Amino acid sequence: SEPTGKRRISIFGATGSIGQSTVDLIRRDSEAYDVVALTGGKNIAQLAKDAVDLRANIAITAHEENLDQLKDALFGSGVEVAAGQAAIEEAATRPCDWVMSAIVGAAGLLPGLRALESRATLALANKESLVTAGPLIMATAHAHHSQILPVDSEHSAVFQGIVGEDMDAVERIIITASGGAFRDWPLEKLATATLAQASAHPNWDMGQRITIDSASMFNKALEVIETKEFFQVSPDQIEVLVHPQSLVHALVGFNDGALMAHLGAPDMRHAIGYALHWPERRNLPVERLDLATVAKLEFRAPDETRYPALRLAREVMAAGGLTGAVFNAAKEIALDGFIAGQIGFMDMAGLVEDTLTQLDGDTSLIHAAMTLDNVLAADQMGREVARRLVATNNS
Ligand code: NAD
Ligand code: MG
Repeated sequence: SEPTGKRRISIFGATGSIGQSTVDLIRRDSEAYDVVALTGGKNIAQLAKDAVDLRANIAITAHEENLDQLKDALFGSGVEVAAGQAAIEEAATRPCDWVMSAIVGAAGLLPGLRALESRATLALANKESLVTAGPLIMATAHAHHSQILPVDSEHSAVFQGIVGEDMDAVERIIITASGGAFRDWPLEKLATATLAQASAHPNWDMGQRITIDSASMFNKALEVIETKEFFQVSPDQIEVLVHPQSLVHALVGFNDGALMAHLGAPDMRHAIGYALHWPERRNLPVERLDLATVAKLEFRAPDETRYPALRLAREVMAAGGLTGAVFNAAKEIALDGFIAGQIGFMDMAGLVEDTLTQLDGDTSLIHAAMTLDNVLAADQMGREVARRLVATNNS
């Protein structure tokens, strides 16, 4: 097709919560963009509608068995269709200026890497890629002179807080946590938490998996590791603070005692929009906070007995190597087990810890070089061990 001078963008995971917030921003100014690829899962109707509305070049479902349905939905539209992980990976190599990485889980790793290799700016919502293969992602960006922009609200907040600053002057980074669905539950009751209860977030409207991860604090555990990898700070410079209102997203502490806080409504379109327009700021359709009405902001230290995930994140960072890949993989399987009703809410952390314990002596796996093949092997091994533990769980 003819070059139009418009910004070429793709959205991986377009049908999800982050994907739809991204589509919303693009739709408001669609003349400014050439949409290259949109990818989704089983929600074919949504994927097809957005592909037509945004005149995407290609629409891809992750599932081969849904290809015919997607073909039917887009028949005569001029939108190319495809299915499967290889098609998603191929689409990530197409020339593009800005790519949203919003697939959930380690499945987001490969398309993100391919986009960086193709010199696109990567708006990274998929925190799992940094947890699984942080050094590989950062090295790939560096080697290809590609930019990564954080989309996780806390990391976008930190990123905004260090503009123009010298990283040597940064003493600490504090990311906040709402505490999730169970922050006010007594500890004894947590073991009985149901799927429905864990799937309701008090402040944010997100995909089911990250919502449950917020209740267990695994989301914050992933984010602590994400902070270490993205900002290249040491683990002891990273703190977590429970903040029930979710209005302060992160704080950066400097060596002169200054603490810069980022505040905003809990609406992911802020962080997505910041990454879309960076390095400029543009008007975004998010609520403006009235702090006189908010009146009160609360903070407290997280309780690690309630949230073993935070302790595990520290152990993962200390162990280094490919431990992050095992950790994330085990967490994904534990979460699958909880969603399927095979294990209880508090069993998830135990299962992840047992997986790490079983594999931490496997030096040739954990301390192999950080190549894509080795990352995928560690991910696979983490999944296998965790699946066995789910199957033999007798709680
Ligand atoms: P979601 O479940 O709402 O959407 C996930 C998207 O990925 C969907 O389009 C789905 O079809 C696709 N997908 C799922 N599995 C796939 C696979 N195996 N292969 C290809 N595509 C697949 O998730 P979400 O809440 O939008 O989160 C997306 C990512 O952004 C996650 O990494 C999450 O941690 C991160 N994130 C989300 C939020 C939020 O507010 N939702 C905030 C910060 C970070
Ligand atoms: Mg976050």
